[in-house]
Amino acid sequence: MTAYDYRQDFPLLRENKTVYIDNAATAQRPDCVLEAEKHFYETANANPLRGFYPLSLAATEQYEEARKTVQKFIHAKSSKEIIFTRNTTESLNLVAYSYGLSNLREGDEIVVSIMEHHSNLLPWQMVARQTGAVLKFLECTQEGTLPDEVLEAAITEKTKLVAVAQVSNVLGCVNPVEKIVKLAHEKGAVVVVDAAQSAPHMPVDVTALDVDFLAFSGHKLMGPMGIGVLYGKEELLEKMPPFLTGGEMISSVTREGATYAKLPHKFEAGTVNAAGAAGLAAAIRYVEKIGFDTIMAKEEALTKRAMERLKKVPHLHILGDEAPENHTGIVAFTIEGVHPHDVSEILSSDGIDVRAGHHCAQPLLEYLGVHNATRASFMFYNTPEEVNAFVESTAQIRRRMGYGE
Ligand code: PMP
Repeated sequence: MTAYDYRQDFPLLRENKTVYIDNAATAQRPDCVLEAEKHFYETANANPLRGFYPLSLAATEQYEEARKTVQKFIHAKSSKEIIFTRNTTESLNLVAYSYGLSNLREGDEIVVSIMEHHSNLLPWQMVARQTGAVLKFLECTQEGTLPDEVLEAAITEKTKLVAVAQVSNVLGCVNPVEKIVKLAHEKGAVVVVDAAQSAPHMPVDVTALDVDFLAFSGHKLMGPMGIGVLYGKEELLEKMPPFLTGGEMISSVTREGATYAKLPHKFEAGTVNAAGAAGLAAAIRYVEKIGFDTIMAKEEALTKRAMERLKKVPHLHILGDEAPENHTGIVAFTIEGVHPHDVSEILSSDGIDVRAGHHCAQPLLEYLGVHNATRASFMFYNTPEEVNAFVESTAQIRRRMGYGE
């Protein structure tokens, strides 16, 4: 199957009206996802997990089926380990507020990588401020590699928690999660993985990786906006206090207090996004039907084509590794003398959608010595012709801004 075949599944891609290469920000949604959400409202619209009448039971069934689909997708041992949230940001905050605040003390160390998205940095800054723990950074090479010596020096007896992205949203590099988990566990620390940019592009196996927590968003995986996932090991989740309190997450309530519901509902306060969960399950089935082997091969070929051509454009610098296979479809770059907002506007005038700015990773950009960048990010449904159009337009930008070349 070619990208053109896959594009028939997407309302916004069928007509080839726009070159959408901002997939790391959010992916496009196929018909099957939109239909799954609609199907939920048409066949099971009642408040799930509450009523004892057939419609509410049907809503609960669709919601809990979706949880099982996610469980299998990331190879969790139990569906109790899958918490539905709004997005990666909420999942990471849940861990920070619930696990972080109750388990960290003054003098403990939290290790994060310098390439974290603000969503996997600010929650740990908050935990450090409130508990007196110290935040330490793993500094990568210019290519985005985290060398063994850096990991070994940073993860010590004092480390209580390591938070790291599996794939950087700027450099696209894949971080050595397995090694980090091994080192952290040897020191008795837990590992929180931000899989926002990995789960849509490669197989993720939480059991094989032995991670303690892992977060991702439905919308980057072609699922609906407003549904996200937190995986947590059952024994850790069991001991953690709820993040949000209120309806649906209790077992019983008195005037003075409450006993909380069992996992996973202890962490799902209020009316849940059941239609979103059903949509996410449909997106996962869609990904599984295509297969990660195909997805990865197609995305790598697009990245290779883009990088080989962009490297020939004078005054253009690609961030991260030389090799396209170390980019997970993400190509961030700068053009000397042109602000990324201008790059993005010029590309947009040619019908090409990219992201410009600091990409919610300001410490990384500052560390790399670039204050902002333009990012193209590819998905298996992008075509070689779209890559060509993007590179041709990019190659003209300096001239269009009035430079000689
Ligand atoms: N982490 C990474 C690596 C990301 O790329 C993003 C999204 N840009 C997030 C976290 C936050 O995702 P969301 O906005 O869906 O919470």
